Amino acid sequence: MKVEQVLEDLKRRFPNEPEYHQAVEEVLESIEEVYNEHPEFEKANLIERLCIPDRIFSFRVTWVDDKGNTHTNMGYRVQHCNAIGPYKGGIRFHASVSPSILKFLAFEQTFKNSLTTLPMGGAKGGSDFSPKGKSNAEVMRFCQAFVTELWRHIGPDTDVPAGDIGVGGREVGYMFGMYRKLAHEFTGTFTGKGLTFGGSLIRPEATGYGNVYFLLEMLKTKNIDIKGKKCLVSGSGNVAQYTCEKLIELGAIPVTLSDSNGYIYDPEGITAEKLAYVKELKELYRGRISEYAETYGCKYVPNARPWGEKGDIALPSATQNEVNGEDAKKLVANGVIAVSEGANMPSTPEAIAVFHEAKIFYAPGKAANAGGVSVSGLEMTQNSERLSWSSEQVDEKLKWIMQNIHENCVKYGTEADGYVNYVKGANIAGFMKVAKAVMAQGII
Ligand code: NDP
Repeated sequence: MKVEQVLEDLKRRFPNEPEYHQAVEEVLESIEEVYNEHPEFEKANLIERLCIPDRIFSFRVTWVDDKGNTHTNMGYRVQHCNAIGPYKGGIRFHASVSPSILKFLAFEQTFKNSLTTLPMGGAKGGSDFSPKGKSNAEVMRFCQAFVTELWRHIGPDTDVPAGDIGVGGREVGYMFGMYRKLAHEFTGTFTGKGLTFGGSLIRPEATGYGNVYFLLEMLKTKNIDIKGKKCLVSGSGNVAQYTCEKLIELGAIPVTLSDSNGYIYDPEGITAEKLAYVKELKELYRGRISEYAETYGCKYVPNARPWGEKGDIALPSATQNEVNGEDAKKLVANGVIAVSEGANMPSTPEAIAVFHEAKIFYAPGKAANAGGVSVSGLEMTQNSERLSWSSEQVDEKLKWIMQNIHENCVKYGTEADGYVNYVKGANIAGFMKVAKAVMAQGII
């Protein structure tokens, strides 16, 4: 396999999909050497079979707003690979959603899910519908219309969706309700459900907590204490909120949060009390992060990202490509010692190169944010058992999984000088498991 040739071919066959090409390139570059040690992979054309999704469903979603106007949006489900378990991955509602973004996410999800040690394949879905500014009733009608199409392609042993950007507990609830009605069954076909109807404790917290657990593992390798470390967090949604919660609990000091309009910088630190305000602002009132600055009298910078502020650790938790090469240089120049990604692919290839060159800790989302899907996997297990576990039980399992992923990254990503390339480690560990499973199951 020659990475350049494979990429050239994918770009020709699937043009105008830059995020998909970017994700594939990152994985292929880091597995090239190991892959080429297996001539049987090349003979079976494994690379194309693992880069191209099994199938993609796309459909029109028609819904009516509160004023009686009829709208259409596009809906998608990308089922990437189910060689090691049922398709599994979130649903994203955001105006920017495109086949390219969902293909990159489903591709990444496949190898991330493989890393978790749980039996889950990879998928992703969503719509270019934006819940921002919509009433509750509009969001409900949209979710119901979306599932009216999606439901025939999913099921507890087929494909189990969850949340992602723009899809939280409220949206999962509406989608699950419609699914249950159409399928005429009660099964764990969605994860991230409410606690009263099959949801798991710690699922809302899992991605943010898991990211901090991964960060702790990295810091432990150099005996660095997280206490007192200033943390730059982006986003202010699910992942950002629970990242802050765990950081505060451990004595670290989150100083920034953002949304698509700008960021706040609170030099005093975001405390538990201020975080409670953010949760209410975002979950209940669906407000803007600028309101935090008004309430607590701190700096708000519109149309900007927080990477130029001084901090010790960066935890990008908003969206893809939110840290570019220039941002990365600022972070390194300001003395950041670790970057741990809550979001999926938030750092551009140029940014990753800067982190690697500076030899700081850099954990890609595929490893660091795998806690979310891991607890989704645990939710599936609880649903199958028709039992629910305590917070402590789930949290213990989450910690164990994050430690295990870290160990695998170290095992496959340690370079000759001792530096751990977590991108390489995560990609090799995640990819090889799926590759072996696909090989063992014949040419299909
Ligand atoms: P939410 O919708 O809860 O929050 C997303 C946050 O990011 C919001 O503050 C949003 O601001 C901001 N944001 C979204 N798009 C952009 C953009 N284009 N530019 C700037 N800011 C933006 O989503 P999550 O917290 O669930 O997801 C955040 C990231 O984490 C995503 O990359 C997701 O794929 C990843 N992830 C999530 C998991 C989960 O369990 N939820 C699991 C693993 C990864 P605004 O409100 O203005 O849109």
